[in-house]
Amino acid sequence: PEAAGAKAPPPTALTIAGSDSGGGAGIQADLRTFFACGVHGMTAVTAVTVQNSLGVEDFTEIPSNVVTAQIRAVTGDMGADAAKTGMLATAEIITAVAKTLGDVGIGGDSDVPFVVDPVAASMHGDPLLREEALEAIRTELLPRATLVTPNLDEVRLLTGVEVTDAGSRHAAAEALLALGPRWVLVKGGHDSGPRCVDLLSDGTTHLELDGPRHDTPHTHGGGDTLASAVTAELAKGADVPTAVEEGKRFIERCVAEAYPLGGGIGPVSPFW
Ligand code: PLP
Repeated sequence: PEAAGAKAPPPTALTIAGSDSGGGAGIQADLRTFFACGVHGMTAVTAVTVQNSLGVEDFTEIPSNVVTAQIRAVTGDMGADAAKTGMLATAEIITAVAKTLGDVGIGGDSDVPFVVDPVAASMHGDPLLREEALEAIRTELLPRATLVTPNLDEVRLLTGVEVTDAGSRHAAAEALLALGPRWVLVKGGHDSGPRCVDLLSDGTTHLELDGPRHDTPHTHGGGDTLASAVTAELAKGADVPTAVEEGKRFIERCVAEAYPLGGGIGPVSPFW
């Protein structure tokens, strides 16, 4: 139903991800990033974590038919201009999500961009993905992805490549592209050194994105926030290199403003 003088809606983005009870990462970070970037956020919740700044105490996955029902409900009615995945928890959820994205026309050959943040563990090292699920990310999800955004640990888990320098960063990008995504962003945020160097590649174009490293322990939710900012820019119509450059500027700002909260790792900040 439309009221007289109704405003045109903003672009829409869907996150398929887990809940972080501490509010720093997961769907909570995704939604506030979508909001900050001017995009209407929608969610398909995959898992509920029991979590605070000290770590992930436990998680329970949502039945895969309920995950896919959420995707169908929002895309069938409201439509999604872009989508992303975060924590997917199990191989069963990954398989069901990949099939449903094909059915509703997200990623793959469709014109709706799809970003995969291959979340495997928290910064504390707590697992967020059952072990057998990595293969499902490789074979079922990555072939549908417009962009995959692994950190260096996730690069190692997915490809076996240990990134230590520019040469191995390029080798990692190539190994990831062989799994089928259109673009890969190898993130250097978890590396050491004064600069934070990411590599964006589609196999033809190779862009090194170089930014300052902010010396803070409080980077909880950083990966989710970057992937969500990129997804929001894609929903607004940006191409992948532009969306990633905008996303990197956004996350740099959030890390620079990160705050301590609780006794452990505080969140990157959406408050500027
Ligand atoms: N909890 C959930 C639900 C997440 O999706 C993630 C990361 O994607 C994390 C926790 C871990 O976040 P971090 O590694 O930034 O602590």
